[in-house]
Amino acid sequence: MFDILISGCTLLTMNRKNEILDDCDIGINDGRIQAIGRNLNVQAEKVLDGRDKYVLPGFINTHTHAYQSLIEGVGYDMHFNPWNLRYLIPIISNMTPDLAGISGELAALEMIKSGTTAFSDHWYLHTDFENIESVTDSFEKSGLRSHMVFGFLNESFAGRKSTGSAQGVLKEDAELLDRAERFVRSRHGRNRTTCGLGPGSTEDVGTDLFRNIINLGRKLDISLVTHIAGWVEIVSRSLEKYRLRDLEYAHSLGFTGEKSIAIHGVWLSEDEIRLAADTGTKIAHNPVANMHLGYGIASVPRMIKSGITVGLGTDGAASYTYDMLEIGKTAAMLQKVDKMDAEALTAEKVLQMMTVDGAAVLGLEKDTGSIEIGKRADLIMIDNNCSNLLPGGRAVPKILYSARGSDVTTTIVDGRILMEDRVVLSMNEKEVVRRAGEAQAVLFRNGGAETAELLNAPWPDKGASWRTQNG
Ligand SMILES: [Zn+2]
Repeated sequence: MFDILISGCTLLTMNRKNEILDDCDIGINDGRIQAIGRNLNVQAEKVLDGRDKYVLPGFINTHTHAYQSLIEGVGYDMHFNPWNLRYLIPIISNMTPDLAGISGELAALEMIKSGTTAFSDHWYLHTDFENIESVTDSFEKSGLRSHMVFGFLNESFAGRKSTGSAQGVLKEDAELLDRAERFVRSRHGRNRTTCGLGPGSTEDVGTDLFRNIINLGRKLDISLVTHIAGWVEIVSRSLEKYRLRDLEYAHSLGFTGEKSIAIHGVWLSEDEIRLAADTGTKIAHNPVANMHLGYGIASVPRMIKSGITVGLGTDGAASYTYDMLEIGKTAAMLQKVDKMDAEALTAEKVLQMMTVDGAAVLGLEKDTGSIEIGKRADLIMIDNNCSNLLPGGRAVPKILYSARGSDVTTTIVDGRILMEDRVVLSMNEKEVVRRAGEAQAVLFRNGGAETAELLNAPWPDKGASWRTQNG
């Protein structure tokens, strides 16, 4: 007797042999995958009809900032600095635990609906240290598998020193380290949550604190995560200050290693790619956010060829989506056009980056990322009996290049059905959307004149909307 039986599906296992099995049954018990095969002929409390469905491991979003789910639609067509200074800081400097919790609910809802089952959230907004507790509670209630990165900012936020409205997000070293350790000790390994420690970047955190974070991460045996060489300016400033490039400098402090995740890595040199490969450092690649903010194009094919494990992520509001299918398709297309080579990044490789490789980036590969007996049951069902995905043809290109997050019908995490036939079961969708709308209004109001100016900017005569003066 199984808890759940999925019958007669097309299964993309994403196992080592990359098996794709037709007319396949999957048995789930106690949150684990217990049986895979044709005509299992067993009883189950719940049977899900897998006909006309692709079943595959849930997608893994290796980098996001959930709080930004509440504030999409204000900043756009901006490079890194207006993005942070004119858009983010005024709105988010007044984040409270209640608002943080709602941002987590909204992000979780979007992820469940588009087939993400595990993700990494980099939370550095400690205007109140309860914020991260509140957002983690929301994720745990949603049923998703979360990798919570306790973030650190002590010198600047996105390069802005501790003045004005950025002040509230910068904290003292001792307090940050103390709160981080308490957070990890109370959360790591419980309720599908694992933890990491995440300096904002090498310029937002001073050398002493950066070293202390690394030491704490090693002591707690958890992952270390930071934004590395995303925007070209940070590399110039690092060369000026330390005579080392960004990853070289982080490496000199002891950052690199099997449990370390470098976010972005757009401007890594050949030597730094080798350094990441040699040390087992992972990369979280966020193609849509990198494109929107004008960061540049990461050398993903080169990274993969060097042996680096690369996962995909949305990053925050800069991607304007939590739909990992959009991220995956963009990742493939971007490399094809950049290299003028249609084989530069293939559909099969990208699907691995979205599942097994993403799990390895977050250190979750023993539990999730593929559908194999013994692994936790984190899987999704995609309707293939619809106009954009008619049954037939090869599954991988149709999933990667034709499917959208809205084609996901059912999302299961840890053997619990979070969404069935597009009805979210673990959260009240209408309530979450209502609360999120109210929370957004509060944040926009607290963003003051600067935010109002962005919101009310007229249609631009030329150029980007944020450059136009209102009134
Ligand atoms: Zn980020």
